[in-house]
Amino acid sequence: MDELHYQIDLLSAMNQKLGSNEKMYRAIFDTSMNAFLYYSFEEDRLEILGNWEHFFNVEITSLKDITRIYDLVEEKYIFPLRDAIFLEKTGKECVTQECRSADGKIWMECEVTVSYECGSIPSEKVIRFRDITKFKRQNDELSYLAYYDVLTGLYNRNYFIRILSDWIGQAKEENAVVSVLFADIDDFRKINDGMGMIVGDDLVQQVGQFLGELREDKVIVSHFNSDLYCIAIYNPCGTRSVEHIYHTIKERMKFPFVLAEGGELNISISVGVAEFPEAGNSAIELINCAEIVMFKAKNKGKARIQYFDAPILNEFLKNVEMENKLKNAIAEDSFVLYYQPQYDVKTGKMRGVEALVRWKDKSGKMISPAEFIPVAEKSGLIVPIGNWVLRKSISTFAGWKEKYDYDMILSINISAIQYKKQDFVSKLMSLLNEYGVESREIELEITESILIDDFEEITRKMHALREYGIRVSMDDFGTGYSSLSYLKGLPIDTLKIDKSFIDTLTTDEATKTITEAMISMVKKLGLETVAEGVETADQLAYLKSIDCDNIQGFLLGRPMPEAELENVIKNQI
Ligand code: C2E
Ligand code: CA
Ligand code: CA
Repeated sequence: MDELHYQIDLLSAMNQKLGSNEKMYRAIFDTSMNAFLYYSFEEDRLEILGNWEHFFNVEITSLKDITRIYDLVEEKYIFPLRDAIFLEKTGKECVTQECRSADGKIWMECEVTVSYECGSIPSEKVIRFRDITKFKRQNDELSYLAYYDVLTGLYNRNYFIRILSDWIGQAKEENAVVSVLFADIDDFRKINDGMGMIVGDDLVQQVGQFLGELREDKVIVSHFNSDLYCIAIYNPCGTRSVEHIYHTIKERMKFPFVLAEGGELNISISVGVAEFPEAGNSAIELINCAEIVMFKAKNKGKARIQYFDAPILNEFLKNVEMENKLKNAIAEDSFVLYYQPQYDVKTGKMRGVEALVRWKDKSGKMISPAEFIPVAEKSGLIVPIGNWVLRKSISTFAGWKEKYDYDMILSINISAIQYKKQDFVSKLMSLLNEYGVESREIELEITESILIDDFEEITRKMHALREYGIRVSMDDFGTGYSSLSYLKGLPIDTLKIDKSFIDTLTTDEATKTITEAMISMVKKLGLETVAEGVETADQLAYLKSIDCDNIQGFLLGRPMPEAELENVIKNQI
């Protein structure tokens, strides 16, 4: 009897325990975002635990019913899902399959585990559905970031290079051509600086959107950064040709872009083109070549297309080489100054000297500034070089003054970039102070090109220089805008008539007339004139007859080293 009671107590205790365990498991399953289907093959019994409704709004009571969920997932997942759910047919133990609900709202992972008895008879199966929507979304964002540019929605640089590399590989096998177009908005920096980054971004986005419309089969478009875009075409022809694409771009640029902030903006685009196999063998090579020739398009005046051309590349490579050598030259102090005298036509006395820089390379050869100044200007190296010229010329000039006490002017060539530096005036003044040179003894030679941008700021600085007593001279006059009308508004002291006028002065009537008129007008404005590049006595005589104030040229003295110029000064006193 006791034994029986004991058995009954034990059973009810076990029942209780089982019941509470089941409660616990149910509680756990129900609060998880998973759904579990338990199926016993022996009993043909299906149990559903957890959050089934979250995934599928259908009731199922048997394993056969599960086919009802096929209508609730995206079509392409139906067969993979079915294969997973009936895994026992393959004899495998476990599989996971991702799928998405038909309404696209939920991404789920279906994990199926089957247990077997005696190795091959399926006994139990657990199917788990897990919500992976959040994870998928994060993943999508990450892969979007990996392939696309967020601002424009176009391919990013890396992905573009990847596809382009694949195309080049394919083109090698198929003997095909791959064209790369490098497109850049003209004067974008000015727009960005002048109108703000929001307008800049808006424009980049709109141009990106427009270029994106050029995408088609075998045409990809990417946004590299800032205002740089790259387009690649596999085997260009017809509407997929470079010409057609450039024509489309050009036509679009005839109309303004309407800005989100209000207003409209007219822009132009410069394009460089490089093709496989002509220009390069790899994606990077092609892109680089296209970029290099794009810069050539800019130099030629923007709003145009430039095709790859070996001489352009060679010139670029030569410039890069020169830039590197220039950097060393700055570090090794390899520059020298030559001085060319300028003479007063009436008195015949030396008015002053122009300092002209030379670069003495390792072999001792003098390299002309005409060769390296343009490279130095492009790379910004003109600033340290110009600073060196200022210090060296001013200190030399101070030495001559002390030695010979000869009253003259030191003319120094100043590049636009150097002139535009914020501390230009203060640095110059402190140099003059340091060497005891008076500001009236200094003349800065600038060219008309300096006036292209920010006219007001440039003239404000000219006024500041003038207030200190420094002279300003307009160099190469007649080669730029050649407009006498703007001269009257400029605070300048001297005008240098370009050598190109002097060259044909005695042989060409038109040049004669222009030069004569120029000198008489300039004099009326109260400016002094200097004729450059005077090589013959005839030129000198004619310049004298039309009342030119000063002359400079090989006839009376070539640019010469410091010591030689000292002799010229000695002869003057
Ligand atoms: P530039 O300022 O127009 O200088 C006059 C150039 O004409 C000099 O060339 C000079 O040697 C040359 N020249 C003078 N008289 C005659 C002549 O009778 N016949 C001929 N055929 N040429 C004559 P250079 O020294 O080769 O300088 C070339 C240019 O390099 C200069 O043109 C100037 O723009 C630039 N440059 C020279 N030194 C400096 C410098 O220190 N700083 C900057 N930024 N530029 C400089
Ligand atoms: Ca000059
Ligand atoms: Ca000149």
